[in-house]
Amino acid sequence: MSDNNYNPFENAQIQFDGVAELLGLDPGMREFLRQPMLETHFTIPIKMDDGTTKTFKGFRIRHNDARGPAKGGIRFHPHETDDTVRALSMWMTWKCATVDIPLGGGKGGIICEPQSLSKGEMERLCRGYVRGVWNQIGHEIDIPAPDVGSNAQCMLWMMDEYETITAGRYPGVITGKPVGMGGSLGRTEATGYGCIYVLKDLLRCINLPIESTTASVQGFGNVAEYAARMYTELGGKVIAVSCWNQADKTAYTFKKADGCDIPALVEIKDQYGSIDKEKAIALGYEVLPGDAWLSQNVDILMPCALENQITPAVFPNVSKQVKIIIEGANGPTTPDCDPLIRERGIIMLPDFLANAGGVTCSYFEQVQCNMNYFWGKEEVLEKLEYAMTKAFRAVYELALEKDVYMRDAAYIIAINRVANAVRLRGWA
Ligand code: GLU
Repeated sequence: MSDNNYNPFENAQIQFDGVAELLGLDPGMREFLRQPMLETHFTIPIKMDDGTTKTFKGFRIRHNDARGPAKGGIRFHPHETDDTVRALSMWMTWKCATVDIPLGGGKGGIICEPQSLSKGEMERLCRGYVRGVWNQIGHEIDIPAPDVGSNAQCMLWMMDEYETITAGRYPGVITGKPVGMGGSLGRTEATGYGCIYVLKDLLRCINLPIESTTASVQGFGNVAEYAARMYTELGGKVIAVSCWNQADKTAYTFKKADGCDIPALVEIKDQYGSIDKEKAIALGYEVLPGDAWLSQNVDILMPCALENQITPAVFPNVSKQVKIIIEGANGPTTPDCDPLIRERGIIMLPDFLANAGGVTCSYFEQVQCNMNYFWGKEEVLEKLEYAMTKAFRAVYELALEKDVYMRDAAYIIAINRVANAVRLRGWA
């Protein structure tokens, strides 16, 4: 789903193969873990508001469930592909293992442009998706969640459709639901906050006060918004935010050298993270090309949009001032760019560690749903910070001990855990 030639599934396999080699995994285990266990590809016919019927393509892919039921979001995007969903399902396996929650990896996708659908069309699409996969999902099988282009309302429609088909009440079948309808407090904030919990602990480890740092953010959807909110609340300064502009069908970077006012920018964005250009200009923002976020003189880059954004082709534009990259998005850096980043001494907080807050809170949501007892927000966020910090420390310490890049350290931990579960089950 990116506009360049990188195939995310090949990227995910390249990353896996490198670490499998490092770990000396046997060939049978490698073959099993480098591909999904189950794929469902289906069509979703939808009656559009104008009376026509349009057929959408849907996917649900389960990479691995050796450690527990599969878990992962459903993306609504015009450039979604089976290979993107394969890669993302694989990254979910590593993500759940890195934060050590008892879940496996799965992912879903629908090829569509959610911005151009009416509310009614969106509801029919969500319900149609569940009709295509209802017998592959379930609170003990595979639990979907929101992702790019989907939200809490979509999750509720999906839960309702599932419960209608199966004639029961199974709030744990899907996470990211609205609070009061089986959703968890803190779930909306969880992915973005999780990134900053990890960043906060890294800054503590390297003795860099957050108030002395600046950042540039790509994306202004759910992850970017809450990461930027918490980062600025803790004293960091966001200099630039880049996001997609649906009206102009292009991306822009909104810059304010003395620091962006994140709550004010949130006021002028739509639900898909598109900032209103005219209103931003009126608020005094400089409007630059979409890729300008990458070349800002800042300490921290936060790619929180899509995959394949930091490539060897654009890496020379990254400012020499950049010390840390925190991957809020899934797969924003291509594997061929990792050596360049490492060579420059930039600290990489890899996606499946950095953005694991969302799925960790989804796990909490499921636990609460299954108990039918809901925690207060403080309790949720406290548990989330504990889980994220613990996972970060394990990765950071292993990276120091073995002198490896943090992405490799996270992979070593995750793949070891998954391979161990596969072995214990006697699958390989
Ligand atoms: N879509 C999110 C991710 O990529 C969250 C998944 C979930 O909550 O299950 O991690």
